[in-house]
Amino acid sequence: PVLAEMFRTGAKLPVSFEVFPPKSENARASLHYTATRLADADPGFFSVTSSPDGSSRERTLAVARELAACTETPVKIHFTASGHTREQIDAHADRMWADGIRHVLALRGDRPADADRRGIPQAYEHADGLVAALKARHDFDVSVAAYPEKHPEAPSLDADIEHLKAKFDAGADRAICQFVFDAESYGRFRERAERHGIDKPLVPGVIVPTNWRRIRRFAVKAGASVPDWLDELFDGVEDEPEIAQLTAMATVQQQVRRLIAYGAPAIHFYTMNTWQIPLAAGHLMGRHVGDFLGKTWCGAA
Ligand code: FAD
Repeated sequence: PVLAEMFRTGAKLPVSFEVFPPKSENARASLHYTATRLADADPGFFSVTSSPDGSSRERTLAVARELAACTETPVKIHFTASGHTREQIDAHADRMWADGIRHVLALRGDRPADADRRGIPQAYEHADGLVAALKARHDFDVSVAAYPEKHPEAPSLDADIEHLKAKFDAGADRAICQFVFDAESYGRFRERAERHGIDKPLVPGVIVPTNWRRIRRFAVKAGASVPDWLDELFDGVEDEPEIAQLTAMATVQQQVRRLIAYGAPAIHFYTMNTWQIPLAAGHLMGRHVGDFLGKTWCGAA
């Protein structure tokens, strides 16, 4: 019914675009261009990643300011608690608020194995503590991370979902999911989370496979399963950038279509700081949801 209504009214399915802080001046200039192109899809927000230990915090904030200025789109900051004291976190939250940042993705982040030996602080053991602290400090809109295929450290998916629930109980407004290649695992996760009493939006993530080998390594590390059909699809196209790009577009389009079918309330794109594929997918979803899904398929005709 939601899709049929969107089709009838021409309503847009919200999209958001994640970028990472560029490492060089050239990359910075090209991110500006990327962002202005992505803004054409009228995203709900951009989000800017931070390094696991928060050391990129200044760069993240600088990029957020620049994106907000050049696109007039809200920007969400990825805020990792790891490596900081409560006082430092409070001070940074105040700074973000003073800078006009209203959207935060509250993350625990990853702690280096030798953190204790090096005396690296850990203000909050888990992200729920950070959520509560941010909400108590300012009226931020707070998102948290969710893992449809389980966070690597969690003993089970049910335990992980209970921990996600604790983040919602601490005040989180929505969760953004780790990317999946298999949309069905998102669908199963949503159902399971609902059984645990979670009723807040769980937004699936779609990664743009710009460089399959690299993305594959990243996926394995993040605990996302890699279906054989994807390996087969990219097999042999690595040295053909144009074909690889078209293959990537086809897989993203297919994933988005299937995620919508599994009830995605929005789609978050891990853009890898590129614009062509996310913009094309965002346009298709945003402007012509009905056409994109197919009239017969969504039963809206
Ligand atoms: P938590 O929610 O604290 O979960 C971590 C582990 O602890 C899980 O196994 C969970 O089950 C368990 N747990 C949680 N709460 C409790 C509790 N109360 N009691 C017991 N166990 C608990 N990393 C970056 O460094 N920079 C980024 O910009 C970044 N962006 C991300 C964006 C998205 C959309 C996602 C999904 C992840 C991102 N990450 C990023 C990765 C993230 O930092 C890591 O996955 C990190 O290991 C966990 O962070 P978290 O906020 O999910 O932690």
